[in-house]
Amino acid sequence: MAHTSQPFPFAFFNDKIVQTKEAQVSIMTNALQYGTGVFGGIRGYYNKEKGFLSIFRPDDHFRRFLSSLKIIGVSIDYSYEQLLKITRDLVKKNKPQTDTYFRPFAYAGSLHISPNLQSDNVFKYAQYMIPLGDYLPTDKGNSVMVSSWRRVSDNAIPSRAKISGSYINSALAKKEAQQNGYEEAILLNEEGHVAEGSAMNLFMVRDGVLITPSRSDDILEGITRRSIIQLARDMQIPVEERTIDRSELYVADEMFFSGTGAQVAWIDKIDQRMVGDSRRGTITARLQEMFFKVVRGKVKKYDHWCTKIVDSS
Ligand code: PMP
Repeated sequence: MAHTSQPFPFAFFNDKIVQTKEAQVSIMTNALQYGTGVFGGIRGYYNKEKGFLSIFRPDDHFRRFLSSLKIIGVSIDYSYEQLLKITRDLVKKNKPQTDTYFRPFAYAGSLHISPNLQSDNVFKYAQYMIPLGDYLPTDKGNSVMVSSWRRVSDNAIPSRAKISGSYINSALAKKEAQQNGYEEAILLNEEGHVAEGSAMNLFMVRDGVLITPSRSDDILEGITRRSIIQLARDMQIPVEERTIDRSELYVADEMFFSGTGAQVAWIDKIDQRMVGDSRRGTITARLQEMFFKVVRGKVKKYDHWCTKIVDSS
């Protein structure tokens, strides 16, 4: 699937809201050469009947964004509250009437030609919005392969931080999977244990237990992952966060990805083997259905996860 939708007309760039087409950087920008940046990805779900945009857990996304900056030892000139306000201001200006993806990012904007995290340790901040539907199919199974590429390890490029440069690792795995006729890849970490997909976390079900790699298995600590774990616990589904071996994937009853882009996307085949009976499993179905209701702001209990912007149109 290509994701080339036209961006919304307004973006935040160089400390103000400007036309997206005018938000441009020099070819000498440090981040462009070295991937010296940090980013986020947030979804807003548009409710046509009631005319509001429900943004999913923006507070948690911005907290992770600031943590990523902290991990690499840089800062931006914006507080957490200001980042939330910029998001609201952009919604009010762009007035989306469709499901939307927000891309906040911070980057080394200097024009110096060495891979450095800015001499003053201050990154620039920018944010844009695009319309976005499904990133992976959610109404049919996805086929995956275990990648020959290993997930970046925490001591090479911190894996729990969403660092721009590390996405060459995702891109290599995704390309390999697609060239081999699969939708997605699963990356193992340097220890040979299961980490995650190219840009999504992984869950499997064995004997009624929902299992996902632990936070020390070189994964990005996904906001969707955290939400799924919470939903499962609230639905009395047993959950384990622990190391998973490759061969365990082959005997799983159910398997799915979670992520802001991927949402909840189930897997029917792995390395030419069927996952369970290749149909959407019961636990996956329960969680997927609940997830889609929750993100659209339809479940009162999880209203606190949704920031609804009423006058978005
Ligand atoms: N892993 C990677 C490498 C990712 O890029 C993403 C997408 N942000 C995820 C997992 C899922 O994280 P989240 O649920 O916060 O989108």
